[in-house]
Amino acid sequence: MPKPDRLVESRSLSYQGIYTCPVCRHGEIAALTLMDAFACNFCHHIFTANLTEQSVQVVDSSQALVWRWTGQSWRSAYQRSADLTGLVWVGGAVMTIVPPILIGLPAYMFPPLERRDWSIPLLLTGLAFFSHLTIAVWLIAEHHQFPIYMTLRVKLGNLLGYR
Ligand SMILES: [Zn+2]
Repeated sequence: MPKPDRLVESRSLSYQGIYTCPVCRHGEIAALTLMDAFACNFCHHIFTANLTEQSVQVVDSSQALVWRWTGQSWRSAYQRSADLTGLVWVGGAVMTIVPPILIGLPAYMFPPLERRDWSIPLLLTGLAFFSHLTIAVWLIAEHHQFPIYMTLRVKLGNLLGYR
C-alpha cells in the first residue's frame, strides 16, 4: 500500500491522501478500505467523496454538510437551509430572553415587601438567563457544527467513556 503523501503543498483530493477533517479540524480523514468514502480518526464522521467536484459530504449527519477541497484546505459549501438557520438563531434568542423576563418582571412590578431584598429575584432571573443561554448556545453549536465545538464534544465523549 503506497504511503500517503502529506508534505505536498497543493494536491488534489484522492483516496490515497490524508486530509484534515473538515468537521472537527482536529483529526485526519483517510479513505476507508474498499469504499469510496473517508472517515475521520478523531470524530468518526464518515464522508462520501466526489472526486470530480473535489468535494466531500458528511453522511452520518442530519444535515447535508458539504466541503470543497481547494488543494490546501476545505471550503464549506454548506447546503444548509437559511430558513432553518434563522429559526435556530431567533428561537435561541427568544428562549434566552423570555424566561428571565417572565421571572424578573413580576419581581420588579411587585417588589419584595420586606427589607427590599432583591437577592432572590435577581438570583432566579440570573439562573433562568444562564441556563437558557446554555441551551441556546448548544442548539446553535449543534446546528452550525463549529469545529471547536465538535472537537470539545468528541473530547468530552472520550472522557466519559463513549464515542
Ligand atoms: Zn473529525
